[in-house]
Amino acid sequence: MRQVDHFIHGGAGVAGTRFADIMDPNNGGVQAQVVLGDRSVLDAAVAAAQAAQPAWAAMNPQRRSRVMFDFKVLIEKHMDELAHMLSAEHGKVIADSKGDIQRGLEVVEFCCGLPHVLKGEYTQGAGPGIDVWSMRQPLGIGAGITPFNFPAMIPLWMGAVATSVGNAFILKPSERDPSVPNRLAELFLEAGMPAGIFQVVHGDKEMVDAILDHPAINAVSFVGSSDIAHYVYNRGVAAGKRVQAMGGAKNHGIVMPDADLDQVVNDLTGAAFGSAGERCMALPVVVPVGDDTAERLKAKLIPAIEALRVGISTDADAHYGPVVTAQHKAKVEGWIQTCVDEGGELVIDGRGFKLQGHEEGYFIGPTLFDHVTTDMESYKEEIFGPVLQMVRASSFEEALALPSKHQYGNGVAIFTRNGHAAREFAARVNVGMVGINVPIPVPVAYHSFGGWKRSGFGDTDQYGMEGIKFWTKVKKITARWPDGSPDGTNAFIIPTMG
Ligand code: NAD
Repeated sequence: MRQVDHFIHGGAGVAGTRFADIMDPNNGGVQAQVVLGDRSVLDAAVAAAQAAQPAWAAMNPQRRSRVMFDFKVLIEKHMDELAHMLSAEHGKVIADSKGDIQRGLEVVEFCCGLPHVLKGEYTQGAGPGIDVWSMRQPLGIGAGITPFNFPAMIPLWMGAVATSVGNAFILKPSERDPSVPNRLAELFLEAGMPAGIFQVVHGDKEMVDAILDHPAINAVSFVGSSDIAHYVYNRGVAAGKRVQAMGGAKNHGIVMPDADLDQVVNDLTGAAFGSAGERCMALPVVVPVGDDTAERLKAKLIPAIEALRVGISTDADAHYGPVVTAQHKAKVEGWIQTCVDEGGELVIDGRGFKLQGHEEGYFIGPTLFDHVTTDMESYKEEIFGPVLQMVRASSFEEALALPSKHQYGNGVAIFTRNGHAAREFAARVNVGMVGINVPIPVPVAYHSFGGWKRSGFGDTDQYGMEGIKFWTKVKKITARWPDGSPDGTNAFIIPTMG
């Protein structure tokens, strides 16, 4: 059986004793195994990183950015191969896997311009004969811990920025779809990145804890579910590290009475059911404002949902594929039952869906609930499956309050033709990323990504200038070149430059 190994110092290296199964979501069953590492594996990666990082950091930034240019070309060249590898383990359809890779590639493109963003600030003559400037320096060794749902994009959010600014980076990807991260490490090496700068260690909680406790790792970037994000944040910070930890989500789509409902239905079906709902920026809650809007929307939504095609990940006509594991399928179906028990009106039931020829695959049909209310556990918690819940609001204010008061605050969207309503909404909603007639408002690579409340612990976002901030520390230099003549300064008083 195929085995996925660690990628340390440019190669497989350390042998393993513990393994996890990598499932085949299209057909059920085990397709490969991934090695699960421990502290000794991490020590080997840290030693390689310590050996390689100083020279990498000392290299001029233009040369580091050339590695990023070559890496970008290699990803483009291997796009099909990477997308098939990703779909085979994750289950998302090929076109969506290409989107996953492309959104990571765009962060690599941003990093090609690194010499420009690394420039510090400079003030000539901040005092008599005194100049002040700042320089951004790498942290040393950083680690990334990533979820299963974007096995290319999220490792690149972190790894491209961390390495291009001069750090060594150790990635601990999800054990459910670990092959693409290893392939990215190979391509980095092929692009000219020194061995030891982008490494991959595989594992579960044991490896995560080893990373959080390791004294030589200075920063940890985490993306995953909120309870684990909170745990990682607390433990990493307690160990003195810089930590950012992105968590789960429950994003709402507000539909105003004046919205273009055909557009909304098209956007909503994609955002609620695309990738089987396994996106932190999915829209699993729709909030029509007014019962009339709700009825009109529902009438259009039902046939659109019924027309969705669920298929294997290589089916070019499928809208979405299976969920990632049998356990996750059971969990999502459990939430559907909970919502039924709590009094939600089950309009379309996706449970029990079987795909002919792939009866053991982890498929769930699209599911629609109406009359979901804020006291329901199934509303409060993230389901992370192809399940859309309709929560009716009677006014703009009531609709605005729903995402604002929810425990998660990752993304939100408003659909309207009213510019004033959209502007008010964007200004007042208590959520980190807002779409105005845009269902999945993932900011482009030269802005930054991050949610609020239990969707994000820490104070910096991913990629863009926020990413640069996270992966560097700023040194501030104050310099004086006296000409030898006495300047009358009293050295016992704090310098005021007055
Ligand atoms: P997860 O929290 O189960 O796993 C994330 C990482 O944590 C993995 O590398 C995993 O090995 C590790 N991990 C798992 N259990 C652990 C434990 N007990 N202790 C320490 N580490 C542990 O998340 P997932 O199921 O892989 O991904 C889905 C989740 O990620 C969803 O909640 C989704 O909303 C969230 N997500 C958030 C964002 C964002 O930017 N906010 C983006 C993508 C996904």
